[in-house]
Amino acid sequence: MRSTLLILLATACTGRVVQPLPTPVVQPEPPPVAPHEPRLELEERAAEVAARVAGKGFHIVSEDPFVVAGDGAPAAVERCATGTVRWAVRILRQDFFAKSPDRVLEIWLFRDAASYRKHARELFNDVPSTPFGYYSPTHGALIMNIATGTGTLVHEIVHPFVAADFPGCPAWMNEGLGSLFEQCGEADGHIVGHTNWRLDGLQEAIRNGSTVKLSALVATTTAEFYGDRSRLHYAMARYLLYWLQQEGKLRAFYRAFRDGCAEDPTGAHALRAALGVTDLDAFQPGWERWVATLRRE
Ligand SMILES: [Zn+2]
Repeated sequence: MRSTLLILLATACTGRVVQPLPTPVVQPEPPPVAPHEPRLELEERAAEVAARVAGKGFHIVSEDPFVVAGDGAPAAVERCATGTVRWAVRILRQDFFAKSPDRVLEIWLFRDAASYRKHARELFNDVPSTPFGYYSPTHGALIMNIATGTGTLVHEIVHPFVAADFPGCPAWMNEGLGSLFEQCGEADGHIVGHTNWRLDGLQEAIRNGSTVKLSALVATTTAEFYGDRSRLHYAMARYLLYWLQQEGKLRAFYRAFRDGCAEDPTGAHALRAALGVTDLDAFQPGWERWVATLRRE
């Protein structure tokens, strides 16, 4: 039996992934000049980022497709780039995403809450609405308070990959997947989400009978998902995908939903097929009873 390898994110930060060298290809003629030289674009962006924060104590590392900049200890920034970021990019590509962002993105690892808020304002003219971190598509940047841990970093890395791989992905799926992997590890060579703090609020809503119908959750517009009950929406989406993961159906569901979204934009059809049910709301009571038995890891 293969042993289950759990790489908690703290370990991922220090772990190194050995990449096999690409197989040389014999070219009969010189290859045509690529319109974009990815490595060059990465180096140019790294130089641009360095110039933007020159003299402010930032350490900058290129980790394709990201330029990682942090004002913590240089070794810690390096470890996060070659550990968490490299690991998450590799395993998310392997398990979910056929397409990667077509532009270089920035990851800012601010060392504490004060640095995070100060630099979000100075560099991006943003006032963060979360203490952990966020993805700004406008700035092409993941802006993180890394003192809160690396979980949110993996969550936010999911979003630009979803944008590239699954245009039109509804918020419930995008946030369900991001939040599933904000507490994650690796088992048998695949990324796995673990139970986390979002379970508490969901179990309370289940006890109170105040969950929303799954049919309504998947039909939420972006504004509705992020509206008044967003905390519950995130938790329900996360643990719905957690159920699929535990059943070994999540990766196939993601691909089926993505590939069929022109006819099935909410994913309701793909979800019913993955769950093997004809009615999401009839499935819900059994799912809620199962969620009620889960424990925080
Ligand atoms: Zn998110």
